[in-house]
Amino acid sequence: MPETIKHKFYPDAEAEKREIIRQYRALMRALKAKLKKGDRAQVRHAFEMAAEAHLDMRRKSGEPYILHPLAVAQITVQEIGLGVTSAICALLHDTVEDTEVTLEDINRDFDNQCVRIIDGLTKISTVLEETNTSTKQAENFKKILLTLAEDPRVILIKLADRLHNMRTLDSMKRDKQLRIASETVFIYAPLAHRLGLYNIKTELEDLALKYTEPETYFTIARKLKESKRQRNRYIQEFIKPIKKRLLEEGFDLQIYGRPKSIHSIWEKMKKKGVSFEEVYDLFAIRIILNSPPEREKADCWRVYSIITDYYIPSPERMRDWLSNPKSNGYEALHTTVMGPGGKWVEIQIRSTRMNEIAEMGLAAHWKYKEGSGTDTKFDQWFGQIREALESPDASTLDFVEDFKLNLFSEEIYVYTPKGDLKVLPKGATALDFAFAIHTDIGSTCIGAKVNHRLVPISHKLHSADQVEIITSGKQKPSEDWLNIVITAKAKSKIKDALKEEKRKVAKEGKEMLSRKLKRLGAAMSTANITELMHYFKQPSELDLCYAIARKSVNLKELSDFGVKGDKLETPASRKPAKVRRQKDPEHAHPKAAGANDNELIIFGEASNNIQYKLAQCCKPIPGDDVFGFVTSSEGLKIHRTNCPNAAQLLSQYGHRVVKTKWAKNKEISFLSGLRLIGLDDVGIIHDMTNVVSGELKINIAALTIESKEGIFEGVIKVYVHDKNELDELAERLEQINGIQSVTRLEPEE
Ligand code: MN
Repeated sequence: MPETIKHKFYPDAEAEKREIIRQYRALMRALKAKLKKGDRAQVRHAFEMAAEAHLDMRRKSGEPYILHPLAVAQITVQEIGLGVTSAICALLHDTVEDTEVTLEDINRDFDNQCVRIIDGLTKISTVLEETNTSTKQAENFKKILLTLAEDPRVILIKLADRLHNMRTLDSMKRDKQLRIASETVFIYAPLAHRLGLYNIKTELEDLALKYTEPETYFTIARKLKESKRQRNRYIQEFIKPIKKRLLEEGFDLQIYGRPKSIHSIWEKMKKKGVSFEEVYDLFAIRIILNSPPEREKADCWRVYSIITDYYIPSPERMRDWLSNPKSNGYEALHTTVMGPGGKWVEIQIRSTRMNEIAEMGLAAHWKYKEGSGTDTKFDQWFGQIREALESPDASTLDFVEDFKLNLFSEEIYVYTPKGDLKVLPKGATALDFAFAIHTDIGSTCIGAKVNHRLVPISHKLHSADQVEIITSGKQKPSEDWLNIVITAKAKSKIKDALKEEKRKVAKEGKEMLSRKLKRLGAAMSTANITELMHYFKQPSELDLCYAIARKSVNLKELSDFGVKGDKLETPASRKPAKVRRQKDPEHAHPKAAGANDNELIIFGEASNNIQYKLAQCCKPIPGDDVFGFVTSSEGLKIHRTNCPNAAQLLSQYGHRVVKTKWAKNKEISFLSGLRLIGLDDVGIIHDMTNVVSGELKINIAALTIESKEGIFEGVIKVYVHDKNELDELAERLEQINGIQSVTRLEPEE
């Protein structure tokens, strides 16, 4: 490596060495309270082993490689709260995969746990490496969860590793940044959330946004900074009376305002279609009580009561996670009150112990669980993961989709007739509940009694419902049940049952086929079956036989086949038969454009002969950040990188993504739109059209205005050549008197 890059960060090799030692000492300081006899030497040995193994390696940024494992170890200890074993594993996490060090070396010098964890970490990253080519990321997600079930520390260290990689993503190439960022949003942030690591989840999301939508990220970051003083003043004003009173009442507490994350502000702006200025709750007030465990719950409620002496609470926005903690262990009392100036302010009340769980998630959870020995909701959740993973047949993609649904959704608490509590995702039905109790009960469920009232299996449950399931021996699962249930467990059990049914039907089809072949004088051989699978476009023998039994494949067509020896010959002149078949994007082959490294230039030279379409879901226009995606049925499609579907496409089908760039375009125009909100004023429409068609000479395709109580909302659709033109238009419109906000119209609007 050239000298200039080598010492990009540090003036010379000596300075580099000093930095490494400094980081090592910082790690030891963080570990200090947790070190037992002999630990110090072990950590030191792990550090030396890693430093030696990575000696000649450097990161993309030019830094010495060992600084990465050192940083990961520090995150593991300081931000996740793990101990010595995890620190050792974090230091060694990349050695077995990337260096000469073997698992045997580790086995010789460190204990069994370390070997297992490092083995898990190596496996995960090997899987992730391979994904670019053929394996799916969904498959990875499942593998990652499997290691979680083995030893959760594997996944916690992996999260630390990902966090550090995201923090240092700057030196990566753009396409790699995009892939890593979307994978982070798709897999790691939800996982961190589920494990209760809220700070890490938030940081991962913010960092991902920084790379997928830099413009948005930096605009919001700048506005947050600009409004900081004003916000702080408001927070102080809000806190003052309640803090005074709480101290008088003898509480030992911390109270502070916390700004919302950039990612969550952006989500809110998009969801509500509002501007930054209109996202009212840019912060939450947090009150942390230093109360002993036996008094913490009562204290939280007392604090709530005192706050409501000063501010009026909104009854719909009260969340009691004291009595019913979330299944990731989260406990707190949330409320939203009306603050000065008519602003809604969210308040989170928790004890020091609850706060530690909120910030360090799983790790803190264990710390407090030792001793109490109770079966917590977290353990129940953990059990559910294991169970879901044990279903070997379920399609991985579906599994991940369902699982993610379960990750994000809120929970409801329902009861069996005997009063046992079941936790289900919000939106779960009576049928989900039946499967949650037992597969046999689910499979034979014909209805339920909810709070003693008879309801159909599709009935949606609510918290505190008492549910009794009614079964019948004649009942069996059917295809439409898949639309009724939302839990991963119910779905996979129903699919198993349907598959079993399909096998039975296919068996009949197989016999029909065997008879037909016999009559033609052909053999029931693998070669012949494969020939027929191709001809009838069936993905497997099972599907072929099933289609024969169901008569969606007509065996009469076989009469046109030739037979040579015992081998079938497809009549050459004939096109394959038309059969209804499910589309399967997995089996699509990238076409000419699929070569990953050739950049596609849209609207470029005539030599660029590739067919493509602009995706309807995000309607890109020149200048937008875009990528090409090879679809199975419609060829190449161009999406915006901030398309709602982008994260999933990029992370699951990375190998089908084509790098894409816009050519300079001045001929073709694109339909795009803006949403305007302002004060209703006689002259405003005139001013708007004047700017659009008069000054900027842009063609208006449609203009709709709705006005209510002095506020108008307008949607203007225009033909523009590129993003610059649209941005300029938005800027000009914003300057018109009376217009308050101008935002780009999302296609589905
Ligand atoms: Mn690493």
